[in-house]
Amino acid sequence: MQMTERHIQHPPLAADARRECKICWQVYDPAVGDPLVWQIPPGTPFADLPVHWTCPNCSATKDQFLVLPDE
Ligand SMILES: [Zn+2]
Repeated sequence: MQMTERHIQHPPLAADARRECKICWQVYDPAVGDPLVWQIPPGTPFADLPVHWTCPNCSATKDQFLVLPDE
């Protein structure tokens, strides 16, 4: 049996999801970006941040950031 319809998976990590640093609770909001520390323009999804990006507050790496639930 072949699947002809595109199987749409629920994206586990929405592009516009906000992330929170689990160390210092700094929030990364893609709508805001990180213009002060990393010159990240507003509208940049967390996934599109540079690989060397770290928490602007405590320098935690990206994998220390947890997805915040939608409000
Ligand atoms: Zn932090």
